[in-house]
Amino acid sequence: MSTEALDDEASRLDAADPLRDRRDLFVGAEGPLVYFDGNSLGRPPRATAERLASFVRDEWGGRLIRGWDEAWMDLPFAIGDTIGRAAIGAAPGQTIVGDSTTVLLYKLLRAAFDAQRAADPARVEIVVDRDNFPTDRYLVEGIAAERGGRVRWIDVDLRAGVDAPALAAAVGPETAVVLLSHVAYRSGYLTDAASLTRIAHDAGALIVWDLCHSAGSVPVEADAWEFDIAVGCTYKYLNGGPGSPAFAYVAEHHHATLAQPVQGWMGAADVFAMGPEYRPAAGMRRFLSGTPPVLGMLAMQDTLAMIEDAGIQAIREKSVALTDFALRCADELLAPLGVEVASPRDAALRGGHVTLSHPAMREATARLWEQDVIPDYRDPEGLRIGVSPLSTSFAEVLAGLRAVEAVVAGLAS
Ligand SMILES: *Cc1c(COP(=O)(O)O)cnc(C)c1O
Repeated sequence: MSTEALDDEASRLDAADPLRDRRDLFVGAEGPLVYFDGNSLGRPPRATAERLASFVRDEWGGRLIRGWDEAWMDLPFAIGDTIGRAAIGAAPGQTIVGDSTTVLLYKLLRAAFDAQRAADPARVEIVVDRDNFPTDRYLVEGIAAERGGRVRWIDVDLRAGVDAPALAAAVGPETAVVLLSHVAYRSGYLTDAASLTRIAHDAGALIVWDLCHSAGSVPVEADAWEFDIAVGCTYKYLNGGPGSPAFAYVAEHHHATLAQPVQGWMGAADVFAMGPEYRPAAGMRRFLSGTPPVLGMLAMQDTLAMIEDAGIQAIREKSVALTDFALRCADELLAPLGVEVASPRDAALRGGHVTLSHPAMREATARLWEQDVIPDYRDPEGLRIGVSPLSTSFAEVLAGLRAVEAVVAGLAS
């Protein structure tokens, strides 16, 4: 295929894309900058600028302390339910927005570990893979040390992820909890979350899913797949802005048995009773700790509305088309330079990003950023191409991979 054929292909794919108009809803999309990092920090929706300004003017400025009773106290639950409906297949009353991903994972993983061990003292192991995101691995090590548990590591191929045989070999009568990422942050490997959940349950374990790289780009069915617990970011595919708070899902039948360790007044049964001792609230409130980060919860609402409007299935179809096209461009333009694909080629095993591997990628990333082409770099030698489905065009994918070609060719010569 000649390289002009790639231009024709990109134009044809953009013209046929039912979501092509969504890109104009994002700040900066009109410019020439190529953005391949919406999987780390999504672009801001245009509507968010007005939402933030009107919040300061009318709600914070106008309602002042009354705002808490009128609306803000309910936001962790209201936006949580929207995330449940729009992105993760959760019926109402099981999802909240709260602390960072790291803190919510800590609270819920520890709660799950304690509940399991209380029910069966033999269950002392937490299972996690060696290529899980650093925060996940560090939390598991910390909780095991703090609670007298053990870590059971799963070794994985860095270009793939945890599959059913690998999990089945790691779980057993000593497993308390399993912690896995639905989409691997490095390779983009998409696990079969329904099957892996079943494997954990068959061994008597609970499973905690990290949805950071899937929420908003890959369909999730938390209820249908019988998840126990899930936590995910909102500043990636949900475009909540830098440091926006994470969400947590806890299946309803676990609410009464899980006790989280950061007992704060916002998780108490009667918040304003200010009673002498902590009694956890019923339902999801017990997993809150302190005052909700209201400003941080504003922006994500604009993308959640877009996701509900477009439908997560249509978003996934575009995501697959974008990563397929990125791989076609990589094969055509970059393979001759020795660049390898470090992600699954089978779209059914791939989330919303692909990683391209070459010894020059660390240096290439710095050069690309200088020319407003923005992927990111992950060891070893990996250039991550994140193609956020609502805000990325096929022409943008091609322009970006042509820039990668020029930079890698220059560094290699
Ligand atoms: C981005 C990401 C996180 C980030 O956690 P924070 O507490 O928001 O810093 C955690 N896990 C995975 C898999 C991620 O991709």
